[in-house]
Amino acid sequence: MQNVSIIGAGTMGRGVAFVCAFSGLSVSVQDKFEQGLDNCRSYIERQFQKSIEKGKLSWQEAEERMKQITYHQEIQPAVAEAQLVIEAVPEVMELKVEIFKELDRCAPKRAVLATNTSTMSPTEISAQTSRPDQCIALHFFNPVPKMKLIEVICGLETSEETIQRSFEFGESIGKECVKINEYPGFAVSRMNCLIGNEAMNMVMEGVGSVEDIDKAMNLGLNHPMGPLELADLVGLDTRLRNMEYLHKTLGEKYRPCPILTKYVKAGHLGRKTGRGFYTYS
Ligand code: NAD
Repeated sequence: MQNVSIIGAGTMGRGVAFVCAFSGLSVSVQDKFEQGLDNCRSYIERQFQKSIEKGKLSWQEAEERMKQITYHQEIQPAVAEAQLVIEAVPEVMELKVEIFKELDRCAPKRAVLATNTSTMSPTEISAQTSRPDQCIALHFFNPVPKMKLIEVICGLETSEETIQRSFEFGESIGKECVKINEYPGFAVSRMNCLIGNEAMNMVMEGVGSVEDIDKAMNLGLNHPMGPLELADLVGLDTRLRNMEYLHKTLGEKYRPCPILTKYVKAGHLGRKTGRGFYTYS
């Protein structure tokens, strides 16, 4: 897995691209929008700058690794050499299915096709490809450079070889993998979305302020971040799509909190727009 392609250069895609490049892999990044690619490039440059300041890499090494990254608006040139493709476009089933069909047409025959979905079925995402045995979900966590885990989720037809290659890839970029069988929300999102949604319901019911609810979880349960701060980091639009999918598939207890829906309608999407449960300068 020396050549990795990332489809969708947003919050997650750019993080995965940086971690792969940092680990010495050749990376091609594709995003439909020029702005997405520009933001991704500046993020990656900032991350390499930080790595140099922390003494993890020399300036020369960082330069070499940045040269190993290419940026594309079209899928075909981005995946032409790929051994592994990681899709990180928004959490919309129809979009992911369309992308997987195109990846199947354009990526080399032996390439593994992975989705970074937080909740959805890799079986459904890959069902219309000619290689469901080479399809899998690799669920990274935000912020990707800091978070150690990858959930490896097998679809109905995912082969043992694909699982093994995925674990080897995870290890090669310094992550720890756990194997999870397919079920909506897998392990982490299924629990975390519920905690975040309950925190939002508690804000709505006046149980406590945003700051105090976060502080309570932070200091009372030793969570490194409060659930509302974390939802802002994830992106409230992304979190709402996750909740809607879990509500549809797992039932009533996942009904999205009305505050979440209202914030998304207002365009308050968390850190990425400067306003969510908190305000960011
Ligand atoms: P995002 O909105 O930050 O980024 C999505 C990117 O995809 C954007 O840059 C957008 O321009 C691009 N895009 C949109 N349509 C496209 C298309 N047709 N072709 C190519 N690129 C396209 O979203 P995100 O938060 O990075 O989430 C991406 C995926 O990762 C989702 O499935 C999400 O559930 C999952 N995920 C998110 C988080 C998180 O904390 N944000 C964590 C784990 C997994």
